[in-house]
Formats: sequence, structure tokens, C-alpha cells
Amino acid sequence: MHSKKHFIANWKMNGLIKDLNHISRVSDYLKKIKKNDFNCTFCLPYTLLGLAKSRFDLKKINLGAQNFSVQDINSGPYTGSISINMLKDLKCKYVIIGHSELRAKGETNLIIKTKIKYALEKNLKIILCVGENLMQYKANKSFQIVKNQLKLVLPKNKKDLRNITIAYEPIWSIGTGIIPQNKYLNNFFNKISYYLKKDFKFSISLLYGGSVSSKNIKQFVNINKCNGFLIGGASLKSKNFIDIIKKYYN
Ligand code: PEP
Repeated sequence: MHSKKHFIANWKMNGLIKDLNHISRVSDYLKKIKKNDFNCTFCLPYTLLGLAKSRFDLKKINLGAQNFSVQDINSGPYTGSISINMLKDLKCKYVIIGHSELRAKGETNLIIKTKIKYALEKNLKIILCVGENLMQYKANKSFQIVKNQLKLVLPKNKKDLRNITIAYEPIWSIGTGIIPQNKYLNNFFNKISYYLKKDFKFSISLLYGGSVSSKNIKQFVNINKCNGFLIGGASLKSKNFIDIIKKYYN
């Protein structure tokens, strides 16, 4: 059973230095509400991670990255690339792996598996994204697709699995404003959770991602096995992000 709730912001290719103010406001809010069973992480573009590290109380806000290079764990002659060791240096605690926007650019399950191995070696916590596209969803293949994505990349031992959180992100929901129905999601999360317990003998935290906003967050409160959210567009402005947290709990 996971009591801790995760609210993970994925800023994607958004955010200038001035936008770090939004994180300050979220941090102030979190200090006020004093929640312990709670993880708030901002997965920022590389350009903002160093500044964020020096500016925020990293006890309230965790820093996360959105990607890293699979070419070398530490360093090397790879122009334009960032290694996992560099993320560690920036006090990143989390990293997103397997986001559909990167899969669409050619990231294979083999690459994802290697990235998971590297992140675990450097003690970074992983948010592993999985999800089906619209065609697969319409053909009732969602569970089969996600199960396969998990089977091909997840490590087997508990010590490693403890550092992984899975974000189910139906591709057809990302940035579209369309979210799955409650009945479907409840059933889907139950199935994934059962599969993980059966085949991996471990209960991994499950998040939902895709068009989460303060307008629809209430709909997710009753999804039993959902331990939190990966939030894109609605995480860019502090007001929207704080409203999501407020409405989830009230
Ligand atoms: C995402 O891409 O991880 C995501 C959840 O995006 P959005 O909330 O904008 O749909």
C-alpha cells in the first residue's frame, strides 16, 4: 500500500529563468500546508536545473530531469548530450524515462532499459512512462501494450523496483484535454497493479498522466490504485498547479 501521493510537474521544453517564480510560489504553499505523505517534484529543462538547485529548499521540492544521454553514464565526446552523472551533480532526485514524446523520436525499449540501469546505478529515482496510442486504445489493446512495455524494461529485484514509479500516460490524452473514464482507469490500474504483484512480486507506485488540470482532478480521487500524477501543461503556472493539489485534497 502506498500512502504517499506524488504531484510531478513535467515542464517539457518550457520555462525561462523568470518562470522559476512559479516554483517559489508552490514551495511557499507547500510550507504552509505541511504535508509529509507527499512528493512534489519539478522535472525542469536542463537549463533551469542548476538555478533551481541553488534557489529552492529541496526538502519541499524535489528536482527532476526529463531525459539524459545513454551514451555514457559519466562523460565523453558527445556534443549536446547530458549524462546521468551531471544530473546527480545538479541534485536531481528524479528522472523521467520512456516518455512517449521521446519514444516517438526513436527511443526503444532497449534504450529505456539501459537508461533505467544507469539511473539506478547513480541512485536516481525513476518515473517510467508507459501508455498506448489512440488506435491501440480503440482496439482494446491498452493493457497488452503497457504490460509489454513494462515486461521489456523493468528490473526484477525489489531493491531496484523500490526506486521506480510508473506513470500511465495514454498518448491520446497528453495535451488533448481528453481524459479516460473513471471506470476504465480504475479497471486499468487494478490490472496493472495485479500484474506487477504477480510477475514482479512487488507493488510499484502508479501515477496517471495526461491532461490533468484543476478542472478534472476531482475525477481522479476515486481511482483506488492511483498514487499521484504527472502533470504537463497545468504545471507551468503556480496557480494551476496549486489548485490541482488543493482540489485533490478538499
Ligand atoms: C505529459 O506529457 O507528461 C503530460 C502529462 O502532459 P499534459 O499534462 O500536458 O497532458
